[in-house]
Amino acid sequence: MKRVSLVLIALCLLAAAGIAETLDISALQGAEEAALISEAPWEYPLPYELLEDNDYIVLANKTHLLDEQYIPPDLVKLKCRKISSDPIQMREAASEALSEMFDAAKEQGITLYAHSGYRSYRTQKTMYYNRLKKNNGKDDGVVAYPGSSDHQTGLGIDVINKAGIGKRFTSAFADTKEGKWIAENCWRFGFIIRYQKEKEELTEITYEPWHLRYVGVQVAEYIRDQGQCLEEFTAEWQAAVAAYKAAGIQ
Ligand SMILES: [Zn+2]
Repeated sequence: MKRVSLVLIALCLLAAAGIAETLDISALQGAEEAALISEAPWEYPLPYELLEDNDYIVLANKTHLLDEQYIPPDLVKLKCRKISSDPIQMREAASEALSEMFDAAKEQGITLYAHSGYRSYRTQKTMYYNRLKKNNGKDDGVVAYPGSSDHQTGLGIDVINKAGIGKRFTSAFADTKEGKWIAENCWRFGFIIRYQKEKEELTEITYEPWHLRYVGVQVAEYIRDQGQCLEEFTAEWQAAVAAYKAAGIQ
C-alpha cells in the first residue's frame, strides 16, 4: 500500500511539473507576441496578410526567374472574347477578372480581344531560341528569356483591339480608344500595365501597353497610385516585410 501511494505522489508531482512547464511556455509565447506587436508596428499601407504568401504578386523577370517546373496551380480556359480559336489559359481569378473587364468595356462601346495568356516554360524557351536564330544569335529583348516571362505566371495577358488583329503589336496601341480605356480602367479589375514606358530601365522590357498583369484590385490600385512598376513594388513590400520580421526577432 505504501509503495502505491508513493508512486501516486510521484505521479502527481510529475503532472504538476508538466502543467507548470506548459504554463511557462504559453506565458513566454504571449510575451514574445506582445514584443512583436509593440516593437514592430506594421506601417506599410497594404495589409501584411495581403503580401505574405500571395502568389498573385509573383515577380518574373531576368533576375527573378521562374522555375522550369513552375506551372500555375489553377489554370482555366478564358471565357472572354479572343482572337484565335485556340484556347487561351490563365489562372482562374485572372480569367474571371478579365471577363469582367471585357464586359465593362463593352458597355462603354469598347471591344477588347485576348491574344496570348499562359505560356509554359518550354514554349517560352522555343520562342526565345527561335528569336535568337532569326536575329543572328543576339538577344534583342523582344522575346523574354525562359523563366523570366510574365506569361509563365498565368497572370499575364496580351489584350488588343480589332484593328490590331493579325498585325505586329506596337506602342501605338496606347493611343487607340481601347488602349486608353485599358490604361485608365484596368486597375479596377486587378490589372496593371506590366511594362510601362517610363519604367523600361527597371523592367528591361520595352513599353507594352497591351500586356496586362493581374495582381488583385488592392495591389493594382496601390501600384497605380504610387506610379510604380512591379519591380519597384516588389522591392518595397519585401523590404517592409523583412524590416518587420527583423524587428520582431530582437
Ligand atoms: Zn505579353
